[in-house]
Order: sequence, then structure tokens, then C-alpha cells
Amino acid sequence: MNTKASTYSGVARREFLVGGGVLLAGALIGAARNARSESMTADPALIEDLVAANRILAALEIVDGYGHVSVRHDKNPDHYLIARSIAPESVGAKDILELDLDSKPVGGGDAKMYLERFIHGEIYKARPEVKAVVHNHSAAVIPFGVTGAALRPIYHMAGFIGLGVPVFEIRDAAGDTDMLIRTPELGAALARTLGDKPAALMRGHGAVVVGDSLSQVVGRSYYLQMNAKLQAQAMALGGEVTYLDTEEARKTAGFGSYDRAWDLWKRRAMGK
Ligand code: MN
Repeated sequence: MNTKASTYSGVARREFLVGGGVLLAGALIGAARNARSESMTADPALIEDLVAANRILAALEIVDGYGHVSVRHDKNPDHYLIARSIAPESVGAKDILELDLDSKPVGGGDAKMYLERFIHGEIYKARPEVKAVVHNHSAAVIPFGVTGAALRPIYHMAGFIGLGVPVFEIRDAAGDTDMLIRTPELGAALARTLGDKPAALMRGHGAVVVGDSLSQVVGRSYYLQMNAKLQAQAMALGGEVTYLDTEEARKTAGFGSYDRAWDLWKRRAMGK
């Protein structure tokens, strides 16, 4: 499979070189081309935050050599930004690609892309309000995807779990596979299972987490993992476990963006 795209900076450079052609085409076919030109202007602060999100998720051991995080383009909602296929800890600004919602590289190019990028594109298509997506293989959540034991909110930091965390069964969509979301169809099936929820587990594979910002999706990924660890400990103690009830979950889910934690994590991850 040829899964290559140019880096973000590479695309920008080529756009500069062929800029005259883009202008001429834009005059001829209008809005589509204008959208493309505009797409070259992602806010550098957003790219920096995406780099930070990659490094934070690695530092918090939510991703290792695998897993990825993306953010919807700040000016073109039909595009998103994601690293080329490298380990999140290694990501720098030069590694960020711009993809459309079919997860095809804007402007072509030959950088290797994540096989499972369709997770991101198909969720952005299905959920217009979602601004950021994380896919991980967080070890602590795996047992909850394979046992029928439901992940439930055990403390206030993970109240959003009370909004619902469905489990995606890939066999229902495609029979026996290698478990990977390799196609737009599988991405769409996962997005259907996710529905309007903040996260979904992927049986025998990992999780997908969504949010309205990078700070929220990173915070949710961290506290999803922490909740899974604590819940397993509580269950192992025996006896009945008291979880947040629906109303408590709804009220704490409003904590939202985890801004204070994000500021700390970003400072550490970026060495500032
Ligand atoms: Mn995966």
C-alpha cells in the first residue's frame, strides 16, 4: 500500500512555487481552490499544540511507538492535521501533514502516513463539533474492551465516562481482520459505534477519544486510562463499587478542558 504524503512544510513550499497556477485555477473554478489556498494557513500555535499533544501523550505513556493524535484545521473544517507515520514522542512541526476528511494528503507528497488515519477523518466527518481525536492502545483500558465489564466513572476527574463509552466490535463490521482500521469503511463503522459519546473502546485493540480541543482530548485520554486502573483496583478489592451516578457524571463532565493540567504537561513536554 502506498501511503505517502508530503510534510506540512513541504506542501507549503510547493504551494508557494505553484502559487501563480493556484491563483489562475482559483479564478476559473472558484471556491474549491480558494478553500485549498486558505488551507495552507493553519495557525502555527495550533501546530505547536499538536506537537505538544504528541509528546505529552508519549510522556504520560498513553501512546508508545504507536497511537496518534490529530486536530481539525482551524480555518478549514474539512481538513485536519496529523503527524506523518512516526512515533509520537519524535514528532516536530516539520512532521505535521494536512489531510482532507477522506484522509488523503492535501497537495499530494510522499511522506508515509499512519495506516489507521481513517479513524480521524471519519470521526471528523460524523461529528462536526469534534476538534481533536486521539487513538491509543492504552494498556489499562484493554481489559474493559474484552470482558464485558463496563468502564464506569470512578472519580470526578473522569466523569465524562458517565456519558457513555461504547465498545467497538470490528467483527461486526468486517469479520476476522488484523484489528486495524485500514479503510474509510472501517473508520465510518467505528464512528457509528462512537455515536455522540466522548470515547469508545476498540475490542482487543485500544481506544478512541474525542474532544473539542487538544487539551480536552489529551486530558480525557489521560483520565480514561487512570479511571481504568483505579476501577480495576476497586473491583479487585471485592464488594460493591460505588460509581458516580448519571447526574454526578453529567456535572463533572463539565470540567471540560483540563487547562491547568495541559499547561503543566505542555511546559514539561516542550522543555519550557
Ligand atoms: Mn491502533
